[in-house]
Amino acid sequence: MDYASRQQQFMEFYPAEPAFRWAQIERGFFNPKFSGWNDVLNLSKAMRQNLADNIPWISAKLSNLQKDKAGDVFKAALELADGQKIETVLMKNKRGQWSVCASSQAGCAMECGFCATGKMGLARNLTSDEIADQLRFWLYWLRENKTGAERVSNIVIMGMGEPLANYDNLKTALKTWLRYTDIGATHITVSTVGLLPQLEQLLNDQNWPPVRLAVSLHAVDQKLREQIIPSTAPDFFIKLADWAKRYFKKYGNRRHHLTFEYLLLQNINDRPQDAKLLADYVNKIGRVKINLIPYNKTSARLGRSADEQMEQFLAMLEKNGTVVTIRRSLGEDISAACGQLANKS
Ligand code: SF4
Repeated sequence: MDYASRQQQFMEFYPAEPAFRWAQIERGFFNPKFSGWNDVLNLSKAMRQNLADNIPWISAKLSNLQKDKAGDVFKAALELADGQKIETVLMKNKRGQWSVCASSQAGCAMECGFCATGKMGLARNLTSDEIADQLRFWLYWLRENKTGAERVSNIVIMGMGEPLANYDNLKTALKTWLRYTDIGATHITVSTVGLLPQLEQLLNDQNWPPVRLAVSLHAVDQKLREQIIPSTAPDFFIKLADWAKRYFKKYGNRRHHLTFEYLLLQNINDRPQDAKLLADYVNKIGRVKINLIPYNKTSARLGRSADEQMEQFLAMLEKNGTVVTIRRSLGEDISAACGQLANKS
């Protein structure tokens, strides 16, 4: 089902309005002092009243909020106009500012074995408003709940859903954030399971914003990856390597930073030979950074690699000349960490 965006609804009410009118309104959506249509004073009083009666100022309302023990992570369950629920997370980052983790779909069709969202199935794509408004939700929330560090400096699209399966709406939301906030493209990361047709599409898309990309590998062996990520395309690694080389050829600059994510699963993909395979694969492509991710428990069948094992894996990659980091795991106690979002709050 398609949902009309706020802009489409506005144009239906006011088809003769000049294009700058909608830009004034969108600027208002991100104005830290505004909290409703009545604050957009460059609209007539009658127009403000009509819009307040017919178009929601924000497309999601808070259903439940949880805070982790350390007070560094907040998870919000948001209810959308049709009753669907999604989750979005606010995390304190290393700079003492905030990162928002946004969802791109209600549920997900990709069925990754380690992920709670994948077990829900896909309900629907989020509209561009519903994606963009997750940032607005947290900006308003920070304004009302003074934390001492109100700035959101980073956005990661790593919440519920496969972002590239909702390409057009994601792209519109990314452009909205870039147009109306001070968050730069290199501070926004789209995390994808690696949908090859959409990766190809963005490579040829002149209007795709220069945000960072993180592609989930989780294995370098085709059969093993199919077990972990059932949506894996045939010959995935050959095709991904070919795509990545062309990506770097086209965008030979640091802005187009590419990361491969690798979730460490005990006795599945965390052995020394797995590290060697991974290093060889990445070194053939060149300039890709590896981000190792500790597993956050969502399945009785899967285990988290021991800290020592993760350190050994990291050391092996470094020894083979790979740029590698281990991601901090945040919000596990409120099921807000990677792979744990499942509307259970
Ligand atoms: S990891 Fe991402 S792509 Fe895979 S099932 Fe979960 S939400 Fe979907």
